[in-house]
Amino acid sequence: MAPALLPWFDAHGRTLPWRGCGDPYRIWVSEVMLQQTRVDVVIPYYQRFLERFPTVGALAAADEEDVLAAWSGLGFYRRARNLHAGARQVVADNGGQLPRAPAALGAIKGIGRYTLGAILSAAWNDPLPILDGNVIRVLSRLFRVDGAPDRADTLRVLWGLAEEVLPQDRPGDFNQALMDLGATVCKPSGPLCSRCPLARGCEALAVGDVEDYPRPKRKQKLTFEVRVALRIDLPDGRFLLERRPFDGLLGGLWELPGRTVSVGSTAARALGGLVSDLEQDASDLGPPVPVGRVEHRFSHRHWTVHVYQAVAGTPPRAAGTPSYAADGPERRWIDAEELPELGLPTVSRKAIDLSACNQSLR
Ligand code: SF4
Repeated sequence: MAPALLPWFDAHGRTLPWRGCGDPYRIWVSEVMLQQTRVDVVIPYYQRFLERFPTVGALAAADEEDVLAAWSGLGFYRRARNLHAGARQVVADNGGQLPRAPAALGAIKGIGRYTLGAILSAAWNDPLPILDGNVIRVLSRLFRVDGAPDRADTLRVLWGLAEEVLPQDRPGDFNQALMDLGATVCKPSGPLCSRCPLARGCEALAVGDVEDYPRPKRKQKLTFEVRVALRIDLPDGRFLLERRPFDGLLGGLWELPGRTVSVGSTAARALGGLVSDLEQDASDLGPPVPVGRVEHRFSHRHWTVHVYQAVAGTPPRAAGTPSYAADGPERRWIDAEELPELGLPTVSRKAIDLSACNQSLR
């Protein structure tokens, strides 16, 4: 494959900001961001992240709050936590240099077989295969691999093929060429086989069933959750945010105070419980008014959030202090200008934007 694929890559490979730098830290950051996220979405995050944390040492020294803030909107926040923990491990165990030995690199938090191959092959041209969604699609079609790629036995076959086709000469470019071919030519639907450098050896093209590969994954059930969220504004323009518990979905990130509407209950009842819980932090709370609804889809979960807004008549008990914890979750009164400093998931941003439009209360 290499004699056909590498010249194609030299002519048509994508220009990406982490390519050609030979810096394993930058490649590591890019690979973690690219997991489950498109290249065009990742690029601006990658650039901002590296401006803020230009080295492993800078990332290791950062507060988790800052790392999550830089990751805000990119989703799958566990990736950011693992990257941060991994950077601290690299500083503690290896003086801030990513190790080149596969066993040592693979022992770093968050670095699995794919990321290991991507870092070592792209940074040092070491002959290790990679297997991301694009490579899986190309190999599945080239060799008509049966079995869904989320099955362990299919993955074993695919890793074997990725190893088998990897050349000793330019393995790093070869891996990236396979990824680029999957992204730009061997697309999920409507692959451009007439422009493919590997068309002559492609089994699925020869048989005529290209779009039957890869085999479909098992469908994961989508769960639905209804929530209420309440924005409380103070006369000085600050509003209240609450931190989510550290374990679980969006752990440690900030949101408008909110509650899940239990099955069989109502939004009004959930809101009532939320208001009585918040009264200790916001005295003279005015009546909440509905301002709209936010829909947000996570990978296997869908949230419908009914957003309300209220004003607090007097400053909070701990006015003047930036943060304080009541008996329940950590809460903080903030200005809109402070939002970029917080880890704020997209669903929180949508709810805040929606409530910010409601000027009538202020
Ligand atoms: S010939 Fe078509 S199906 Fe086969 S690898 Fe190329 S683009 Fe993919």
